[in-house]
Amino acid sequence: MAEFANYLTHLDCGLTGERHEAHQVHGLSKAAKPLLARYDLDAIKAGADRDAIWARDTGFWKWRELLPVEHSRNVCALGEVDTPLIPLNHLHKNAAVIVKDEGRLPTGSFKARGLALAVAMARELGLSHLAMPTNGNAGSALAAYASRIGIETTVVCPDDTPAINIEETELQSAKVYKANGLINACGAWVKAGADKGLWFDLSTLKEPYRIEGKKTMGLELAAQLGWTLPDVIFYPTGGGTGLIGMWKAFAELIALGWLNKNDLPRMVAVQASGCAPIVRAYDAGERFAAPWEDAHTFAAGIRVPAAIGDFLILDAVRDSGGFAIAVDDKAIEAARRNVAKNEGLLLCPEGAATYAAYLAARKSGQVSSGERAVLFNCATGLKYPMPDAGQALDLANPA
Ligand SMILES: *Cc1c(COP(=O)(O)O)cnc(C)c1O
Repeated sequence: MAEFANYLTHLDCGLTGERHEAHQVHGLSKAAKPLLARYDLDAIKAGADRDAIWARDTGFWKWRELLPVEHSRNVCALGEVDTPLIPLNHLHKNAAVIVKDEGRLPTGSFKARGLALAVAMARELGLSHLAMPTNGNAGSALAAYASRIGIETTVVCPDDTPAINIEETELQSAKVYKANGLINACGAWVKAGADKGLWFDLSTLKEPYRIEGKKTMGLELAAQLGWTLPDVIFYPTGGGTGLIGMWKAFAELIALGWLNKNDLPRMVAVQASGCAPIVRAYDAGERFAAPWEDAHTFAAGIRVPAAIGDFLILDAVRDSGGFAIAVDDKAIEAARRNVAKNEGLLLCPEGAATYAAYLAARKSGQVSSGERAVLFNCATGLKYPMPDAGQALDLANPA
């Protein structure tokens, strides 16, 4: 007997729409594309109240009617919070520019949302060993939730991944490998192990539930803004789970009658100019993105040369009337300093990229000062290398 009312009905292939059964272990769809969880939204509409859900305890587990987990014993909680909205009102006195600061979540990044859900579902479906390639934050979120619930993990990252991510992941009991290649090569290695039956592959969008966790960013944002949405959302796009997930969340909220269709925001995919496959495909009018060669950027979380959900990212961006935009590392660095100095908010490089992109879009006229913009800062700035600081002081000299 489920302790949660569970409304998951089935999963659809994100490309073909082919139906797959719920409550079974799934990786990709039969067409080798991401699977999207589907719910009985009419039943939720009849039985649940948006304001009662929002009034529950803080954190993303409150959205259980719109999540796939059936048994409360499989929920793994580490003190999740609703992440704050912080206006950049010193830098922008006449425009609403708001940062949603995801760095307040367990393990210091929004990867907690996706991995908490994926780990809970792995437990529910009886999986005992999970593996994943990561640029850093996903690995530590996986390790934290999996060790808490008693599931074994293996994590493979490029050997130039920020040291703190490698260290925190191993401390939280994952077996960590530092590999001589980028995330996609690490992913191929993990897949080979999964094909041999060594573990289950939890790569971005290669299983259906990380996106359900990331979806809660969209639910939470709508509730925080009084069941409306901003005019435009800037999202630092690697695998794109969060952008796709929020777009899915908005569609579900509209179907539930909890959100007005006219409130849908324009979705902006932000990438680094050293790794911008989605921007290139967007500019070329293509639905799928060719892999990016020689990917480089210090914003490690968005250094993703090929995304399996490319068409879902590009569909969401286009359907929303948004756009894709690339910013270079110099602009990202300057944006990070600027926000830290003037707003007292230390962004991660990926979050800083959204601010750099916002400035560029204002300059080009793609976004106007009258539009309310929400920028996603997806991890705490404390997890990333910072410039040297401090001056030597001889205490023998008077102040
Ligand atoms: C993973 C990550 C991203 C990219 O998220 P996706 O939803 O996979 O595109 C952006 N920023 C940070 C800090 C990340 O860890």
